[in-house]
Amino acid sequence: MKSIKLEDIEQVPGKRLRGADRFTFQCRPELSCFNQCCRNLNLFLYPYDVLQLRHALDISADTFLEDYVDVVMRKGNFFPDVLLRMSDDENRACIFSHVSGCRVYQDRPYTCRTFPVEYGLQYHGQSRKPELTGFFRPPEFCQGQHEDHGWTLQTWSDDQGAAKHQKMSKKWSEVKQLFQKDPWGHEGPQGRRAKMAFMASYNMDAFRTFVFESSLLMRYKVKADLLKKIKRDDVELMLFGFDWIKLFAWGVQAKRIRPR
Ligand code: SF4
Ligand code: SF4
Repeated sequence: MKSIKLEDIEQVPGKRLRGADRFTFQCRPELSCFNQCCRNLNLFLYPYDVLQLRHALDISADTFLEDYVDVVMRKGNFFPDVLLRMSDDENRACIFSHVSGCRVYQDRPYTCRTFPVEYGLQYHGQSRKPELTGFFRPPEFCQGQHEDHGWTLQTWSDDQGAAKHQKMSKKWSEVKQLFQKDPWGHEGPQGRRAKMAFMASYNMDAFRTFVFESSLLMRYKVKADLLKKIKRDDVELMLFGFDWIKLFAWGVQAKRIRPR
């Protein structure tokens, strides 16, 4: 989920949606465009997407990050983005695309789930309270936009089972938007602290080992009941990781972890 600056909102392409605004759309395998939208994409994966996909594939986080994604640092950013890898064929089809549809449909990433609506958070003035906003922007070839099934942002999200992804993406965007500034100093975005922050967002296997086998728990206070949860629950561990990143990179106080 992107953070959108108020002054940039009119420049974002697509039809802007808020509250009860409606759009019409329906995707069906019978449409001539079926699968065309799963090609040649810059498909950004959020930490929760990676967690879901690697569980669906029943592989380790290391294997998923090695075999299924490209990690890129965009100019002017201080935290890398993770993109789902496309295949090498001439169409550059998504590696999960199959003639009968998406091979990971139940666990598809947030962006695919809500396509062709892109959800964003708009931050208002001093309060920094985010408002959920959406942009309906199907590509020209998408036949689904000519169907007459009507949706709002909420009913579309419910239909696509996007609530949990939305909640986790919102939490992640609160972390990610901090990285519009450089917290790494002389170490740079390839340094040790930056690598630890990446691990705490995208690699729950390695982060769990780090939490329980490094000196982290000697340096930070974490409640015993939370420790129990993060030992076995990857989502709790990820939320804990977000708090830890905010604290160690930015000094933002967090409820899940405090310095000793
Ligand atoms: S292009 Fe649109 S209608 Fe066609 S398969 Fe993709 S989402 Fe569905
Ligand atoms: S993950 Fe599935 S829905 Fe998303 S681009 Fe790939 S094949 Fe399409």
